Amino acid sequence: MTHSKATETAPVKPSNFLRQIIESDVAKQTYGQRRWSGRPGDGPTQQAGAVDIAKIRTRFPPEPNGYLHIGHAKSICLNFGLAQDYGGVCHLRFDDTNPEKEDQRYVDAIVDTVQWLGFSWEQNGTSHRYQASDYFDFMYRCAEFLITQDVAYVDEQSAEDMRVNRGDFGTPGTDSPFRSRSVEENLARFRAMRAGELADGSAVLRAKIDMASANINLRDPAIYRIRHATHHHTGDQWCIYPMYTFAHPIEDALENITHSICTLEFEDQRPFYDWLMTQLATGGLINTPPPKQYEFARLNLTYVVTSKRKLAQLVNDHHVAGWDDPRMPTIVGLRRRGYTPAAMRLFIERIGVTKSDAWIDYSTLEGCLRETLDSEAARAMAVLDPVKLHIENWDALMGAGHLEPCSAPVHPHDPERGTRAFSFGADLFIERDDYAEEPPKGYFRLFPGNKVRLKYGYIVECIGAVRDADDRITQVNARLIPDTKSGTPGASSVKVKGVITWVGASDGVRAPVRLYDRLFKESQPDGGGRDFIAALNTDSLQTVEALLEPSLAQAAPGQSFQFERLGYFVADREEHQKGQPVFNRSVGLKDSWVAV
Ligand code: ATP
Ligand code: MG
Repeated sequence: MTHSKATETAPVKPSNFLRQIIESDVAKQTYGQRRWSGRPGDGPTQQAGAVDIAKIRTRFPPEPNGYLHIGHAKSICLNFGLAQDYGGVCHLRFDDTNPEKEDQRYVDAIVDTVQWLGFSWEQNGTSHRYQASDYFDFMYRCAEFLITQDVAYVDEQSAEDMRVNRGDFGTPGTDSPFRSRSVEENLARFRAMRAGELADGSAVLRAKIDMASANINLRDPAIYRIRHATHHHTGDQWCIYPMYTFAHPIEDALENITHSICTLEFEDQRPFYDWLMTQLATGGLINTPPPKQYEFARLNLTYVVTSKRKLAQLVNDHHVAGWDDPRMPTIVGLRRRGYTPAAMRLFIERIGVTKSDAWIDYSTLEGCLRETLDSEAARAMAVLDPVKLHIENWDALMGAGHLEPCSAPVHPHDPERGTRAFSFGADLFIERDDYAEEPPKGYFRLFPGNKVRLKYGYIVECIGAVRDADDRITQVNARLIPDTKSGTPGASSVKVKGVITWVGASDGVRAPVRLYDRLFKESQPDGGGRDFIAALNTDSLQTVEALLEPSLAQAAPGQSFQFERLGYFVADREEHQKGQPVFNRSVGLKDSWVAV
């Protein structure tokens, strides 16, 4: 077979509106002449630098107030992916402008997560990891600049008056009595705010735009508030903090961001973003051309909630074991569940990018995991609900206590990965539901008089079962059909319809296996503002005492396997140890009854 050049190039990624915008900007050289000093900085600093070698700059700007979830993965894959694809760079920026609730341990976890997903904020040896709190001085300068331009004022109305005077959708707002303060008075009051002379909530700095605007976000939005709180980086240096809508565009501008991509909730903020950029560019404070904001639909996934606040509630109220509980839609949780970076990236690519909100079915995510694990995961046998299978004629035919070595490929489509070994003897374990006293129609597994193949082993004929006083089956009995060992000549001369998996009593390893179900009973647990706690599935975790083939006891923590007929399972990265296995079910097999 010959390979043409075309077939060797990477598949073309499907286009989307963001790609089109970027392609058009790159073609038109919208940002072609923009200069970059090598680090974030104001207009004059950047303009003293060389032409930016990054064709585009995007950013992923998490607030370090919780662990990242699957929704953030969409934003990460988008921002880092677009930068990669268009000769740009993506900055990792901690949006730590809110002194409360932010914490260093979240910062560390976010760094880990982005790297785990396979992305980097380094370009040519330069790290583009930033934190918004480093920009507080500049933001303060911008605020004073707006005051001197008479487009910002200190409002000392009560919170209630401010709310009422904002108007609503159908009613224009009313000017604050403080709106007509002089520039000098505003500067003095703003400096008093900064100096800590005013109490929390007693004053805010507002942009002076238009109290009658049809867009409520333009009715003099607050841009600085007073918070006497200790910040995890700046300590007690500040008692006033910028509002997100003011801080974010400035952060983008200082970092030379070209395309500032955010979720649709921010669409109505875009006019303020542009207003602020125009003011600051006109004043020479920021580099030009300024960044622009583009909105995409956030990821909504069925059967989970994707809000850090709600996830924190699940953790704090002990509905789950922690942020990395394998039922959580956090990236650390999905990872512990057995999700791989490849599965996550495939999922994000598959769902695409649009401008209209939709719900993605959880099964799409599961499908991506199966698809990526199928070619990767080693195979193994395990029995999750074991019952003993006794081969009555084993000792007579094979010799008392004989153990017959058996082997199976590590991966059926990749012989180079070698084989795994285990033993067949008089006593084995099988799944309890692989025996039926009275078989339903189409049941080909063990029932009295039926023959089945024990995969990679022998064909046996079922005799019956032993029950205890409670009528519970304690043992299934069978007879060996000689000369039927898999892979030996004549093994297929006896025809059977059923093949079942098993683990030897001599070398099987007992282990807890956690079977997870969906965390919520309802597909949109918080849809319509409902109480999502009421939608919790209280049966989402079942731990079984399983039997595993010996190869599984040697697994590395975090290693994934396909348990034949059962699904994909991962060695728990926290609790599993060699010799003392602990497995989590990642996802079931779509088609669990393939007889091989
Ligand atoms: P949460 O409501 O969970 O706290 P957030 O948007 O406040 O989410 P941030 O840390 O501010 O969390 O978000 C970082 C980035 O991730 C933002 O650019 C945000 O738009 C994006 N993001 C958050 N949730 C989603 C989602 N469900 N789908 C796509 N992007 C998301
Ligand atoms: Mg947020």
